[in-house]
Amino acid sequence: MEVVINSAGMVLLVLAALMLTALVRALLLRPTAAKYAVVPMDQSERATEYGKQLSRLVQKETVSSRFDPDRTKFLEFHEILAEMFPLLHSTCEKHVFHGSLLFRWKGKGKHEPVLLMSHHDVVEADGIWEHPPFSGDIDAEGRVWGRGTVDTKASLFCLLTAVEELIAEGCEPDCDVYLASSCTEEWSGEGAPATVQYLKEQGVRLGMVLDEGGMILEHPVAGVNGMYGMVGVLEKGYGDLKFTAKSSGGHASVPFRNSPLVRLGKFMAEVERHNPFRAEFNAPTVEMFRRMAPNMSFGMKLIFANFWLSGPLLKRILPLVSAAAGAMLRTTIGFTMAKGADGLNVFPQEAYVTANMRFIPHQDKQESIAVITKLAEKFDLETEVIYANESCPVVEEKAAPFRRLEEVAAEIYPGIGICPYVMTGSTDARYYTEICDHCLRFAPLYISGQQYQSIHGRNENIYQGALPLGVDFYKKMIQKS
Ligand SMILES: [Zn+2]
Repeated sequence: MEVVINSAGMVLLVLAALMLTALVRALLLRPTAAKYAVVPMDQSERATEYGKQLSRLVQKETVSSRFDPDRTKFLEFHEILAEMFPLLHSTCEKHVFHGSLLFRWKGKGKHEPVLLMSHHDVVEADGIWEHPPFSGDIDAEGRVWGRGTVDTKASLFCLLTAVEELIAEGCEPDCDVYLASSCTEEWSGEGAPATVQYLKEQGVRLGMVLDEGGMILEHPVAGVNGMYGMVGVLEKGYGDLKFTAKSSGGHASVPFRNSPLVRLGKFMAEVERHNPFRAEFNAPTVEMFRRMAPNMSFGMKLIFANFWLSGPLLKRILPLVSAAAGAMLRTTIGFTMAKGADGLNVFPQEAYVTANMRFIPHQDKQESIAVITKLAEKFDLETEVIYANESCPVVEEKAAPFRRLEEVAAEIYPGIGICPYVMTGSTDARYYTEICDHCLRFAPLYISGQQYQSIHGRNENIYQGALPLGVDFYKKMIQKS
């Protein structure tokens, strides 16, 4: 008997084969990591003592502002640190750059120094909180409350405590260990750049920077089970732009078409309707999903374990279902400020909107600005770049510093998953890329979903039970450096 397969049959066969391969790949993925269960309720003596000390740091209000050059409160904060960490202060070299701190703990000089960092300024705390934002209250569940607990006085406390305890234990590190904490991080001020400038002048090249960034989260992405340490390895570029529409003005009683505000409105609507930026999967995002795939629901596994098949469609769909995922895949633009006429019945001669952009490496600063400028021209708008910087180089997860972080995480948080990811916000670490190829953005502390949401929001708090593991993490990281 002769079997005749026509072209439609061939297509079906190929499709069936593809589906079968995808299905097998998904079925073969067994849940691997992320089995770790934290003990946020750790109420041991050690956790309680740490909680009290963190509370003291939180009670010292350190809100920073671009418009306030006075650094008194930060210097007062340093005095609290000096009391709390006496060995660190007597052993390490201390530098203060207009309120920003740098310590150098001299090591045996066997290899390139490392730098652990955080920041001690915080953003304002508006609204009504369950516990006042600078109370440092500790509740019955052992949560320390207040602005800056998560962002980032807890990690600052942990890294300083790690060094204090290591000195007490008689440790001498193999390499120089720097500790940095700026007081201008929240408004991208001069603290970190001044610190980097100083290090450059000293001829320091760093083997690793470990800054704030991702943390330890349960269900880091909807549909993914388990506990993951999220390590920022790509920081997007940053830009502030202004789009201006001009006209000869006139009385609002005789309206004309396409007046400045209307053109700005049409432009913004067009950007939202037809996003002009190209979504692509970058290496960190692919790696993130690869590492999360084993712990996804079967339906998601089928998709995410088969990028070779689902990728082209996925990069279109993901930005539609999740703004956060979209921001990992492409340049973003968000409109932030606007100004029209000064009178209620006057057409503006000039109106503008501003926008904040975040650039992705595959469509860099230059290309993204060119794309948006061209689109703005269609609506007869002028584009002005107020400020822009390029995205940071991607940190290799196969290189030694990332692997060391994974090793330490496995020891301190057995069973945890570690995932590289794209940071959509910015950190002080970006200034350090000049003197370091391995700037990892990770604070080794567990936070709950509510605590994650509380960053820059209301009711910021952290479990004191998370602190001992944070301290142990930094200690191990130093000992292995
Ligand atoms: Zn912040």
